[in-house]
Parts: sequence; C-alpha cells; structure tokens
Amino acid sequence: DRIITTETTESDLDIEKSLRPKELKDYIGQNKVKEKMSIFIKAAMERSETLDHVLLYGPPGLGKTTLANIIANELGVNIRITSGPAIEKPGDLAAILTGLNKGDVLFIDEIHRLNRSIEEILYPAMEDFVIDIIVGKGPGARSIRLELPPFTLIGATTRAGLLTSPLRDRFGVISRLEIYDTSQLSKIITRSATILDVDIAWDGAEELAKRSRGTPRIANRLLKRVRDFAQIKGNGIIDKKTAKDALELLEVDEIGLDEIDRKMLESIIIKFSGGPVGLDTLSATIDEEKSTIEDVYEPYLLQLGFIQRTPRGRIATKRAYEHMGYSFDSENIS
Ligand code: ADP
Repeated sequence: DRIITTETTESDLDIEKSLRPKELKDYIGQNKVKEKMSIFIKAAMERSETLDHVLLYGPPGLGKTTLANIIANELGVNIRITSGPAIEKPGDLAAILTGLNKGDVLFIDEIHRLNRSIEEILYPAMEDFVIDIIVGKGPGARSIRLELPPFTLIGATTRAGLLTSPLRDRFGVISRLEIYDTSQLSKIITRSATILDVDIAWDGAEELAKRSRGTPRIANRLLKRVRDFAQIKGNGIIDKKTAKDALELLEVDEIGLDEIDRKMLESIIIKFSGGPVGLDTLSATIDEEKSTIEDVYEPYLLQLGFIQRTPRGRIATKRAYEHMGYSFDSENIS
C-alpha cells in the first residue's frame, strides 16, 4: 500500500470519523470557501430557505466530505451520503430523493461517475424539486410527477471539468478546494494529535506537514504511523528527529514524494529528456491510470513546480531535476 495515497484506505476509516471537524470554525484553511459558505449558510437560514446546490471539487483527501458534513451541521439539517457509482438504477436515486426531509443535504461523492440516465433525473429534482417516474411498461406506460421536499445537493468531484455542462450549470455555488500549505497542515496535525492523545512537538508536526503533499488525509495517516514508531522506537513523543526517522523508514522523502512520484519524474527526465511527454505515453510508461496521474500525482507535483503542463505534454522543471539529483544543463547529454 502506498502510504501517501490520497484515497481512503481501510485503516483510515476508524480514525477519519473522529478527526473530522464538525463546525466551520474548526475547519482549517480553505479561507475563501469558508467565508463564502458561511455567508450563504447564514443568508439561507435567515430567509428560512434551503441552501443553493453546492459543487465542491479538488483532489481527494482535501476535505470535501468533511465540508459537506459541516454545512449540514451548520444548517441544522440531516445529511444523506452516497456516491455516483453507488446509485445504480433510477429507482435508487428516486428512493433517496423521496426519503429526504425539507432542507436536508444530499451529498453525492464522485458525482461525475453518475450514469447518464440517472443524472437526467437529477435535473428537474435540482431545479424544481420534482421527479418524473415512469410506471408500467410498453404502450400502457405513463409518467407521474412526484413533488420532493426542497433540499440541497452537495456534489463532490476531483475536477469540475469531469461533469457534463447541464449538471454543472445547475449548481448555484461552485467551489474549488486548494492544496494546504505547511502551516495549515501543522495545525491539522496538532489538532488531530490532541484528539488522538498523541504527544507531538511543534517541529515534529511541521516535519509531518512538509511530507503530507498538501493533503489532510495524508497528514492524519502519517501521524498515525509515526505515533507507532515513536511509541516503539522512541520515548512516545513525536519530535522532528522521530518524525524524520519514521518517514525515512516509510520511504516518504522530505517533501512527501514516494517511489511512484520519483518514477514518474525520473521517466520524464531520463526517458523523455525532460519532456514534453503526453499523458497517454506517461501512463503506459509508469503503468498508472491516466486519471490517477491527473487526480493524485500531478496536483502536488504541479504545486511544487516540479512539472508543467503544456499543450504538447508534461515537462519536468529545473526544480524537479535538482530534487532528483540531475543536472538541468546536461539534460541532452545521454
Ligand atoms: P475528501 O472528501 O475531499 O476526499 P475528506 O473530507 O474525507 O476528504 O477529508 C479527509 C480527512 O482529512 C478527514 O478525516 C478530516 O479529518 C481531514 N480534514 C480534511 N479537511 C480538513 C480541514 N480543513 N481541517 C481539518 N481536518 C481536515
């Protein structure tokens, strides 16, 4: 298992729930989104209206599910959580929608993976709070219209561009979650350490933060692994040295890259002389799905300024060469 995967793993499940902030004030970072949401929430509550539909997008592990839960909590309504791939038949969605109470939040994770016929049921549901259901078969089939209680749909996806435009157009609020900086991640780690009753020094938290690829999910996971290390190999306290030693053992480098990132950079630098290399070629070369490269590896490498996307493909930058220990000038000498 990649320790720095942004996807939820089995062992994350037990702690993710307890570490999720419940109120907007405990949700660290994402200041623009927070400010915007807090105004919309207050305005909707003052008018006793339901909140507009919200689309949250950004790489996995940045806090989309957490934010959806917080929004429902701040609104004082229930949240129903599902995902695009989990809704298999139109009837599944109809059952969920008719089961909502007035003002409830429906959270659909990976909303870009909804099947087209199901997506079409969402359009009138989002716009007019109605669904049309076909009853019967053949010539006798007829459509009946069901009224739904007004609700707020919160959709989450990795990239907004993955949604069809009719679906995207029906969201009143579209917000992008940003990769976190080291100081925000340090705060998240310190907060999680308090909840998990782990002793951590500020420089220990900072060391973990630097290696968390801007992602709270990874930060929390590193904290959990390093806690074990500190308990067995150290004195139970996570300081800078313990954090460093533990992460070295886990093969996460000082800026959070693991062997797959390094393989990808190395391949652009060596095999493709620094690029540009197209996504298809890169995907075949390092044997990773295109969507995984785009959603999981690239956002962080782009943020670090290690790669650039050009119309002709990805190129490795001087910084990437330096980090990987290659001389930038000698790129063409083979
Ligand atoms: P996503 O839905 O974007 O994949 P999650 O909402 O599941 O991400 O977040 C993953 C974990 O990271 C959660 O368990 C939560 O504890 C933590 N987390 C995410 N965002 C924040 C934040 N802004 N402040 C504190 N913890 C956060």
